Amino acid sequence: GSAIVWFRRDLRLDDNPALQAALEAGHVPIPVYIHAPEEEGAWPPGAASRAWLHRSLAALDQSLRARGSRLTLVRGPTIVALDRLVASTGAEAVFWNRLYEPAIVARDARVKQHLRARGLHVASFKAALLCEPWEVMTGQDGPYRVFTPFWRKAAAWLDTPPPLPAPARLPAPPAAAGERLDDLRLRPAIDWDRHFWEAWSPGEAGALELLDAFVEGAAHGYKVQRDFPDRIGTSRLSPHLHFGEISPRRIVVRLRRESWPAGVRPDIEHYFSELGWREFSHHLLHHFPHTTGSNFDPRFDAFGWVEPDPSVLAAWQHGRTGVPIVDAGMRELWATGWMHNRVRMIVASFLTKNLRIHWRHGARWFWDTLVDADLANNTQGWQWSAGTGADAAPYFRVFNPVLQAQRFDPAGKYIRRWLPELAALPGSAVHAPWEHPELLRRLAPDYPQAPLVDLKASREAALAAWRAIR
Ligand code: FAD
Repeated sequence: GSAIVWFRRDLRLDDNPALQAALEAGHVPIPVYIHAPEEEGAWPPGAASRAWLHRSLAALDQSLRARGSRLTLVRGPTIVALDRLVASTGAEAVFWNRLYEPAIVARDARVKQHLRARGLHVASFKAALLCEPWEVMTGQDGPYRVFTPFWRKAAAWLDTPPPLPAPARLPAPPAAAGERLDDLRLRPAIDWDRHFWEAWSPGEAGALELLDAFVEGAAHGYKVQRDFPDRIGTSRLSPHLHFGEISPRRIVVRLRRESWPAGVRPDIEHYFSELGWREFSHHLLHHFPHTTGSNFDPRFDAFGWVEPDPSVLAAWQHGRTGVPIVDAGMRELWATGWMHNRVRMIVASFLTKNLRIHWRHGARWFWDTLVDADLANNTQGWQWSAGTGADAAPYFRVFNPVLQAQRFDPAGKYIRRWLPELAALPGSAVHAPWEHPELLRRLAPDYPQAPLVDLKASREAALAAWRAIR
């Protein structure tokens, strides 16, 4: 008989346990994607994610067709869609890979119960993580709140069983009615995303290309180079990991099989620990689901957050704060759907500390604009940066964006790339142009002539607000 393989954010044929399980049980797999954003609670995919998803679904359909199968697209509600598919195809089973967002977990539990009550065989699998959130627990059987002990234990999962190879051929699935991809309207009506695709190729093939490029290039020296936004010092696999176009297991096995020069070992270990932060973020999301909207550290509920003035928030969002490293980051995000990790930390510190705006506002903007927007990683990244999170940078460690820029973009290459209006400013003036008002007026008249807030005074105000709740 046939089995529905319900694709969600596991948009790959390589190392796909749900697909493999259907084949091993002797079923004809019916690959299906169900569009049901209204089932994702407060966090349906944002605009940049939808644009990525459109291309990723097209890529998945193409690789299924190359193997003799195809992807059927349908609209939710999920239970109605699955019932209809079962009725029209005679499928006997439904297989999928697990996700960890609270609203999706609750939806999946309802779907499972419904299908089982109707007599179908249902099974779900681990595919997105090395270790699921409940597979690593403290000695007292509780969740971890600190990364280092978490990773000390969870790193054992780097010794993973080998990934499952993509099937070379697939049987043709029975006919089923579906939608056209364009009719799901995932793509923006105005193509503000047109430049994204100069930098990205959504889909499994694009992910494997980036992994190859990382092995050849940025892996060597990763530990140091990863902090410099003016070069390709990281793998840029985050959107591919988010959409499950590559499995963490495939990455780990590839990096472990490589014979590295001795000096590169620490780089690879460091890369694994970044994958570890991804695992830790999912651990936190599962065990502390309320933290997608509220502070992990409840002392910050009483903190003197400033209700954002829409024009101030807009200046941050669009890279018009007058602080070049912050503005460069926000422009990179807008232009490419991605921002370098070092710069994410800088813009987040500026928003939550210098502007004292609640991290929720920043997380929401990132959610809509990042192609790698991920509820686990984004929540953890924002709470960490804001000082409100589990194992966070302490609140009183306020980044000085000028020192950060001098240290991590010493020649101002990154700043000039994303802020062409500053291109004419000489050397060091580019890090803190307000200290050179003459030059700024003459050479960059279109750039804000003063920062949105005084860095020193706003830092002091943030620390005073922190002392009040400490
Ligand atoms: P690499 O350095 O090549 O790392 C490899 C992989 O490890 C990444 O693809 C990612 O999956 C994971 N990883 C790396 N750093 C982290 C981290 N700090 N936390 C969790 N996982 C990590 N990452 C997202 O994937 N989605 C988000 O929505 C997101 N929002 C963030 C918001 C803020 C405020 C901050 C400070 C960080 C955020 N991050 C987020 C984490 C990090 O910035 C990105 O994962 C990273 O920049 C992606 O680039 P890369 O793939 O080249 O990373």
